[in-house]
Amino acid sequence: MCKMSVKNNSIAFMTLGCKVNQYETGKLRKQFEEAGFKVVPFSTAADVYVVNTCTVTNIADRKSRKMLHRAKRLNDKAVVAALGCFAEAAADSLKEDEGIDIVIGNKDKHEAFDIIMEYVKDINPVISTADEDDNDVCNEHVRAYIKVQDGCNQFCTYCKIPYVRGRLKSRSISEVFKEAKELAERGYREIVITGIHLSSYGVDMTECKSFIELQGKPLYELIKKIAEIPGVDRIRLGSLEPRIITEEFVKNVSSVDKLCPHFHLSLQSGCDPVLLRMKRKYDTKEYIDAVNLLRKYYDEPALTTDIIVGFPGETDEEFETSLEYVKKVGFAALHVFKYSKRDGTAAAVMKDQVDEDIKNKRAGKMGETADFLAREYGKKFIGHMERCLVEEVIYIGGARYYTGHNERYIKLAFECEDTDDKLINEIVYVIPKKVCDDGMIICDHKKPC
Ligand code: SF4
Repeated sequence: MCKMSVKNNSIAFMTLGCKVNQYETGKLRKQFEEAGFKVVPFSTAADVYVVNTCTVTNIADRKSRKMLHRAKRLNDKAVVAALGCFAEAAADSLKEDEGIDIVIGNKDKHEAFDIIMEYVKDINPVISTADEDDNDVCNEHVRAYIKVQDGCNQFCTYCKIPYVRGRLKSRSISEVFKEAKELAERGYREIVITGIHLSSYGVDMTECKSFIELQGKPLYELIKKIAEIPGVDRIRLGSLEPRIITEEFVKNVSSVDKLCPHFHLSLQSGCDPVLLRMKRKYDTKEYIDAVNLLRKYYDEPALTTDIIVGFPGETDEEFETSLEYVKKVGFAALHVFKYSKRDGTAAAVMKDQVDEDIKNKRAGKMGETADFLAREYGKKFIGHMERCLVEEVIYIGGARYYTGHNERYIKLAFECEDTDDKLINEIVYVIPKKVCDDGMIICDHKKPC
């Protein structure tokens, strides 16, 4: 590994896409800090820019390229590195792009530090000045993400991830435990276990052919192990597949008190024929069974999901079925995506691609439902004592407020009476009193827990 020490060199990071990308950028950032680089916001001039790209939709592709070009505009002498999924998928065109110096696909991502250092060590960039809005994605300082597996073997018809990230690869429990312990020692109180297909965690470490056979046992073992770490107050899970939610799995994980009652169960469509075309391998009946199991073991768990609208062939009727299903489940939060054609996937060549105007209308309608459901879910907690892990100070109507989340990932805010932000990273009791339009809840502050 290159151990070159750099003085006065600056580096800026931009992360697009999923939590796994955020995790990977965080690791890279740490390596550069240790090598003597100063990390600066992406909106300022830097010697090196690293854009961790995403290719999940067309918009993600465009944004990735835009950020790479923005970096070069901020300092045309800077070294600009593209890494990640879009860098993998569009490697040829990015390599021809004069504004981009280094292209690192997913298979070489683990060597990104060495590759970039190798490139920059012989050059001496000249710093220019620039003044744009800060679009840097901030590191969260109270919540840490740990990637426990990469890749996916599922091949949903709309998704490019298995092609750009490859097949399932899990990290050992001991390796993840060590990392979680270090994070707790650095003061992180919440650990988010994340991965590309988290439900498959551990399948590649056993003789089993699929995660269905395993019933989430490796994931449960991992959660239990992390829960032993002093200083870790909360463990949150990233996105899960409904098929991992068996009685045995829920019984097991519900015995771990530190695990947050927040489950992001990927749905994608609430209409069976669409799920079939997506090759999602479960139907709405199996999904609601999973929801009911979680509700049996947890009091008002936060159930969140992703929904795609305008998948090829989705009729008005199918969309309405999906919308009604979403209402029936009563999600706490919903991420709505318009279907985006990804070259090389089965869905990209399906007939009856949906018109962009129709997709926009459906996304708007689903989005309104999502906002409504989030407010309804939030109202259930009015007047109840909640534990808020305080993350930052924001301004609302000119007044300073602390904000953070409870175990169910509801955003809570309460007035900040001090000037030194001393409650950040503390867990305090609050009493929710009013749900805002965006789902955040204004609370009264009680006392530290
Ligand atoms: S499960 Fe499907 S949507 Fe998720 S990463 Fe794998 S192929 Fe993509």
